This record gives sequence, structure tokens and C-alpha cells, in this order.
Amino acid sequence: MAGVQLKRHQMRLAVVALCFLLVTSPMFSNLLQTAWQGIVAVSARRHYVQWSALETEYFRLRYSPEDEDIAAWLGSEADAAVKQVAAILPHQSGAKRPWLVVVPDQETFQEVFGWSDGTGALGVYLADTVKILTPRAWDWVGEEERLEQFVQKGPLVHEYTHFVLDLRTRGNYTRWFSEGLSQIVEYQVLGYEWLEAGSSLANTLYSLDELDKSFDELPNQALAYRQGLSMVTYMEHLKGLDGLNRFIDVLGEQTPFYQALKQVYGLDREEFINGWQKWHREDYRWFRVREDGKN
Ligand SMILES: [Zn+2]
Repeated sequence: MAGVQLKRHQMRLAVVALCFLLVTSPMFSNLLQTAWQGIVAVSARRHYVQWSALETEYFRLRYSPEDEDIAAWLGSEADAAVKQVAAILPHQSGAKRPWLVVVPDQETFQEVFGWSDGTGALGVYLADTVKILTPRAWDWVGEEERLEQFVQKGPLVHEYTHFVLDLRTRGNYTRWFSEGLSQIVEYQVLGYEWLEAGSSLANTLYSLDELDKSFDELPNQALAYRQGLSMVTYMEHLKGLDGLNRFIDVLGEQTPFYQALKQVYGLDREEFINGWQKWHREDYRWFRVREDGKN
């Protein structure tokens, strides 16, 4: 009896050891991450599988019949955006071509993401899938100016940058950093920045804890995004694009976010936020609002 008992214990030990090995082995965690990404991607794309398809150099486009006329144009704009982003954030996507879903109207766009507050998002990124609202539906802009405005405001550049960060770090980043990075690339490529009364950093700022833990739930999204942009711009001010790219590489090694910050910028979390506080106050750029003061 004692012998059987002992064998069982040994079995259990072996299973525990194997599980431990699997969970802690980088190969296994990579596999798990890839499998998980696959599941999320399938779910993010399930509505669009039957839509018309167009393959471009860098994307698998999916669009509805209403966008038949502009699909090829959108595809070439998207490919151009990839090259603009790659000049700032070098990357190799290899065989991994993200989906680009062109959503035909605001209602569908909000339905898919469960937004009802009119945050006015023009694009969204999730699991190797970029979704943009068709410029045809930009009804706050005159009809003949829609395509031009679409190019100027750059949702393709913005959303594709989210994909690049995800690709290079395999998901190891905070939301404020991702939004800040997408905006700084948009600003450098197109000179566009999202300004409105609520986005001025003269408002009561969110704490780093709030930005880290509940970015998407913060009531003033314009302010949260602006803080993200300002903080990433501070990082760029400290060590340039080289520093940002090195930081992204260190995140890619799965170093925890603030440890990577310390490694590349020599600042701990507290020093970083204090340094940023001091830096942004000196620059009027962060206190500007839209000229008409409207939201
Ligand atoms: Zn974004």
C-alpha cells in the first residue's frame, strides 16, 4: 500500500513539475499568447468574414458594398500609411498581414464596440485587426472634403501604429503609452493633434495610477489621450526616437513596463511622472484648446 501511495505522490510531483516548466518556459508562454491572440482575432473579425475582400501589399481589406468605389483607394492609402509609420517605428510584420475592416456607418461602428457616448472614434485596433469608419460616413465634414480630411486626420496611421506596438512587444505595454505613441506618430507624419476644450492639461490631471489601471473608463477621454501624448512626447524629448525604439525593444523582451522605463531612461515611475509634470508645465502647447473652444 505504502508503495502505491509513494508512486502516486511521485506522479503528482511530476505533473506539478511539468506544469511549472510549461508555465514558466518562454516558449510555452509565447504559444499561449499566440493561441490567445488567434482566438481574439477570430472573434474581432467574425462579423466581416463574408464581406468583400481586397488584398493589398500590407493588409487584408474587408468592406461592405457601399464602399466598393473607394476600397482600392483606401487600400493604397493604408499601404502608404504603413511606410510612413515604418520610417519612425521600424518593424517586420513578415507573413502577418493585419485585417483592415472598413465599417460603413457610425451606428455599426458604435454597436460593434458598445460605445454610446459618441466618443467619436474614427478607428479602433484589436488583435491584428484595424477597423476604421469609412470616410463616406464622416458626416460632420462636407461631402466633397471627406476623403481629404480622412487623409489629414490619419486614422490609418494612428491605428496601424497600435498594430506595430503590439507586434513588437507582443502586448506588453500600458494603454496610455499605446495611445500616446499612436498620437505622436500621427503628429510627426501628418502634423495632426486632437485638441478640444477638455483636452487641455490645465484641467485636473489624471494620476498615473488612473492612467495605468483604468484608461478606458476615465470620463474625460480627450484629457487621458492628451496626457498619453504629452508623456510619450516627454520620453521623446529625453532620448529621441532612438530611445523610444529601444524602449519598445526592451518591452518586446517582456520586461515589465516601468522596469523597461528605468532601464532605458534611468527613471523610476515616480521620477518619470515628476519629471513630466515639470516639463509639460513649461510648454504652452499642452494648454491649448481648439480655437473655437468647442468640444
Ligand atoms: Zn488609439
